[in-house]
Amino acid sequence: MELPELTILSSQMRKEIVGKRISKVEVANPKCLNMSFEQFQKTVIGKTIKSVESRGKWIFIELGSHLLLFNPGMGADVIHFKSHDKLPEKYQIRFTLDDETGFTIRVWWFCYLHLMPENKLDEHKLTAKLGITPLDERFTSDYFKQLLSKKRGNIKSFLLDQKNIAGIGNVYVQDILFNAKLHPKRKIPSLTDKEIDALHKSIKSVINESIKLGGLAYEKDFYGNKGSYGAKQFKIAYKPGQPCPTCQTTIQKIKTGSTSSFICPNCQSPDK
Ligand SMILES: [Zn+2]
Repeated sequence: MELPELTILSSQMRKEIVGKRISKVEVANPKCLNMSFEQFQKTVIGKTIKSVESRGKWIFIELGSHLLLFNPGMGADVIHFKSHDKLPEKYQIRFTLDDETGFTIRVWWFCYLHLMPENKLDEHKLTAKLGITPLDERFTSDYFKQLLSKKRGNIKSFLLDQKNIAGIGNVYVQDILFNAKLHPKRKIPSLTDKEIDALHKSIKSVINESIKLGGLAYEKDFYGNKGSYGAKQFKIAYKPGQPCPTCQTTIQKIKTGSTSSFICPNCQSPDK
């Protein structure tokens, strides 16, 4: 789940749960908490949900004195239920609200469900240094240039580092770089203004296009519906061996540090 999926999920959650009070909570994987389950339960029960916002790969749920910070890790189904709905077969976390509606969370691998006092939010190491998201109105081309001007590494690592920009992961980054004709290993100081502008434009267009289509085709929203951004929308991502849509050169899968990258070796030259 990256920015488009979490933006959609948080806006649907906002509609359904804001203004309601938490009456019951279950957590079968207490390792995701930053305190004991007993302490967690004691703090959240009876609290009214004030707001739900996404920040990159995190969802911030405001409970007045505290914030609930959720990160789905490698992916999770966060599914709304009404009082008589059949619950999903498997889930680890369940919040029930005072009108008997609520939501369950099924996590694929790990997640974070951290509770922080509002006045100590800046002590939460995982979120305190998050960058702004590409949907933020402050994310202008000038802002992006300014951000890049202080960096020396390669462009893909920069884009994936949530401290720089929040919300881009290894799925969307592939076509984001392809659209801007940039090899993932291009060093930041070698980028021209024109290339940075193309990259800025590509980030916005890929993220916005996916939001318009309901997010990734294999991720579920709050109502259990899958998005429709998939193979048809991907240009080179997850298409090794297929022809590049621009020049027909065969798309390659390469290793870039700890992640895999898909590139067109003709459109995205490493030596510039
Ligand atoms: Zn190409």
